[in-house]
Formats: sequence, structure tokens, C-alpha cells
Amino acid sequence: MHDKMEERFPTMKAIIYHSHDDIRLENRSIPTINETELLVRVHGCGLCGSDILKITQQAPPPVILGHELTGTIVECGKAVSGFEVGQRVIVAHHVPCGTCHYCRHQNYSMCAAFKASNIDPCGFAEYIRVPTEHVRHTTLLLPETLSAEEGSFVEPLACCVRAVRRTPLLPGDSVVVMGLGSVGLLMLQAVKGLGAGRDKSGPYGAVQVYGVDLLPERLQLARDLG
Ligand SMILES: [Zn+2]
Ligand SMILES: [Zn+2]
Repeated sequence: MHDKMEERFPTMKAIIYHSHDDIRLENRSIPTINETELLVRVHGCGLCGSDILKITQQAPPPVILGHELTGTIVECGKAVSGFEVGQRVIVAHHVPCGTCHYCRHQNYSMCAAFKASNIDPCGFAEYIRVPTEHVRHTTLLLPETLSAEEGSFVEPLACCVRAVRRTPLLPGDSVVVMGLGSVGLLMLQAVKGLGAGRDKSGPYGAVQVYGVDLLPERLQLARDLG
């Protein structure tokens, strides 16, 4: 499978960060995988505010850009179970260890293993190697009902859901979402989806949600989304 593919696609395009003012579209070899990994052809990848921050804050390399991605499995390691070639997947980029001080306090993004882990070479590539731990813990099947574009919102939505769950909301509280860009709109839906304003008996039953933005089209989008 892979040999054939290499004949057809000897190289792939990937966006590689060399420094904040030297980000190149490069030809790279398609990654090779071992028997516990996956090779995924990327459908698309969202551009996160954190990608832009790395550039504007002039982060020193290595910097891996792009992590809000969906793709199709084109090669599946022999020892991988639960996945097969042709399936559409969402792959998150970091895997926490689950046992360190930070993980035990659910501050996964502070975990050293979380920070060290990533997809290869980056989300803005035609193909990515999904390492073993990512296959086990952060690769999800994309449901038929979601487009690839919608699937690319799973990672930012997960951040919003986590933020809502970690906020000690009580009935009678009000939530104000400042800024209704893509993440603000996701946050609004996360608060509502977790119960506010709908199910008065739910954990956030009587919480009021407000969205604030200067742009009328964003306010309209917020209304359209409920
Ligand atoms: Zn992000
Ligand atoms: Zn940890």
C-alpha cells in the first residue's frame, strides 16, 4: 500500500516553521509508519489563534503549526486495532501521561508528556504520521453526519466544553461570552449545550448566557445558533 502510494505521491507538501519570518511550503517525504501507527491523508486543518500567536510572539523553532484537523486513514499499522484504511478520523495533537502531578489535577496541558507529544510533521501537511499514543488516546472516528470542515472544530469545541465543565456554575449565574468569533460561538453553544437555558433541572439549568460582539453579522450568527 505504502510503496504504491510513494510511487504516486513521492513527496507531499507541508508548511514548516523555521522562524517567525521564515515559514515555508516545502516538499517532504511522506512519513513512514511503524506497526502501531497510522498514516492519515489530511482533509483540512483549522488555523488556531495559538498558531498565529506562535508566529507573532516569534516562538523559537521547533514549532509545529496546525492541530485542528480531520483526515482519512490511508495506511494502518499491522498491530493497530479499532481502525482501518478508509475511515475518516479526527486526530488531536497532544497526549497527556495521565499520572503526573498535573494530570492528577486534570491540568493536562501542563503535563510534560502532553507538551512533548505531537503529530508528524504538522497539521498543515498532506499526510501525517499518527504516533502510537495518539492512535490509542486521541484519534476519534468522524461520524458520517459531520463534514470534514465541521470535524475540524472538534478540537476547539473540546477546549470550550472543558472550560465550561471546569467552571463552577450555579443556578442563577450569568455567563458572558466576550467576542463571537469561531471560539466564542463554540463557547456559547457549549454553555447552552450543557444545559443552560434549556433544561431548567440540569446542572446549569438557570444560567443565563449573553454574547457580546461589535460585528452585527457575528451577533446574527449567535442568534441563529440559538
Ligand atoms: Zn487550537
Ligand atoms: Zn501528565
